[in-house]
Amino acid sequence: MPPTAVRIENPCEGDQLLNCQDNDWSYQVKESKRARRASVRVKVRSGIEVTIPIGYDRSRIPDFLNQHSEWIQHRLERARDVKESLNPDAIRLEALDTTWRVSYIKTPGDKLELRTPGPGQLVLRGHIDDPVRVAERLNLWVHKAAESALIPWLDRESKRLSLQYSKVSIRHQKSRWGSCSARGSINLNQNLIFLSPREVEYVLAHELCHTKELNHSKRFWDLLTSIQPEARSIRKGLRNHNLPIWIWYPFL
Ligand SMILES: [Zn+2]
Repeated sequence: MPPTAVRIENPCEGDQLLNCQDNDWSYQVKESKRARRASVRVKVRSGIEVTIPIGYDRSRIPDFLNQHSEWIQHRLERARDVKESLNPDAIRLEALDTTWRVSYIKTPGDKLELRTPGPGQLVLRGHIDDPVRVAERLNLWVHKAAESALIPWLDRESKRLSLQYSKVSIRHQKSRWGSCSARGSINLNQNLIFLSPREVEYVLAHELCHTKELNHSKRFWDLLTSIQPEARSIRKGLRNHNLPIWIWYPFL
């Protein structure tokens, strides 16, 4: 069950970077021994990056970029959307029907602390100008909130449905809402707490049914729809879910 797809590109390290300026775009050039042809990507943090094979004629780069200008423009706009979503004012946890107001207090030094002074209040204090660290800190908080909500929730559903699992862990997964192993060990995506309670219950029931049927056969669906008659329509809705973009930022 994939959440909104976000392509994660691993940052390349260890290669020499050269800053170049051409037309309206600034870009970085990286020579790679493994590259067979020129390629381009757009990263949220560092912008346009062109990778070229050793010996590639650099005067060809502007033409190369112009050939891909539409794609690059699109990716630059997306990167801007990601940046605008940083340091959110509020975090809505739909599954728990709670909204947390986030305030930011800048103080000198390198520390970054997160506090919850009262219900629905989050305060980030310290070095708040580094969006990566802020997003990482908020992600950690989301992860803990997900653990304390989803683990007992799964347990309740397991007892209610008489479907037993052996172990549960909460992960920050990019491509799945949940999974279940042959040994009955269930992984749940921390980002489930951004979904509605009905959708969470669907995912929990789905994974619990896998403890009996480790496939998506007719028997599996018969079992699942006997528990949740609307399972198929809930599943469809899960495909185009809008999660807050900042949760992906530590990976972009
Ligand atoms: Zn499944």
